[in-house]
Amino acid sequence: MQEEGKKLVLFFGPPGSGKGALSQMFVEKFGWLQLSTGNLCRKHCKEGTDIGQQINIAIKSGKLVSDQLIINMVMDYLKNDTNGCQAVILDGFPRTVFQAEEFVDLLKIYYSKFTIFFIKLLITREELVARVLTRRTCSNKSCQSVYSEREESCMPLVPGICDKCGNKLFQRDDDAIDSISGRLDIYYEHENKLLNFYKNTGQKIYNVNSQDTIENVFKNIEKIIGGECDID
Ligand code: AMP
Repeated sequence: MQEEGKKLVLFFGPPGSGKGALSQMFVEKFGWLQLSTGNLCRKHCKEGTDIGQQINIAIKSGKLVSDQLIINMVMDYLKNDTNGCQAVILDGFPRTVFQAEEFVDLLKIYYSKFTIFFIKLLITREELVARVLTRRTCSNKSCQSVYSEREESCMPLVPGICDKCGNKLFQRDDDAIDSISGRLDIYYEHENKLLNFYKNTGQKIYNVNSQDTIENVFKNIEKIIGGECDID
């Protein structure tokens, strides 16, 4: 596989901004790889691994997991699961300046040949709350596909059942009304610092309006990053 044309796409946005659903669409359309640190954390919790036991409380209450644990998970993934890939989407990482600083070093090791696209999803807080409250997730830890009870194009074919694997959909603990406000506060607390960090390091940030249908948001991102590295 040629080194040229490889892409690393970073989705940056609050919970409910569409990172997971958009990543899924790129994975399905182009066969790209996706690492969602949130999905990975939830998988550890469901499997009851050592890491899962350490992070269970943070995940359920919507608090951030320790930077070092997250960085180790991402490093393991990059080292073991991305060989020969054409494009990788990172969904939900880096989330703090500490993670971003470490990430710069990871980039030099694993992604020196990749073009990086930093996509920031823009959406109002009111819309986020409405989306998260109506979000439903596949209970299969290896699937975790995301659906909406509100947006028609994101509804499952059979209510309450995942189109892809047939498992039941559920509402994540951290998507319940008690957790959302705190999760958004935590996200915004880090957002400005992260944006300043990226500005200072000269990273170009593409702002994309995410308050639109998922199809339109997908098309707009596709225009920015191009779909030409389809691996079929
Ligand atoms: P998400 O699915 O991206 O909303 O993530 C769900 C939860 O996973 C977050 O509320 C955090 O507890 C944890 N998490 C995911 N990504 C990170 C990260 N980069 N840093 C710290 N915690 C994370």
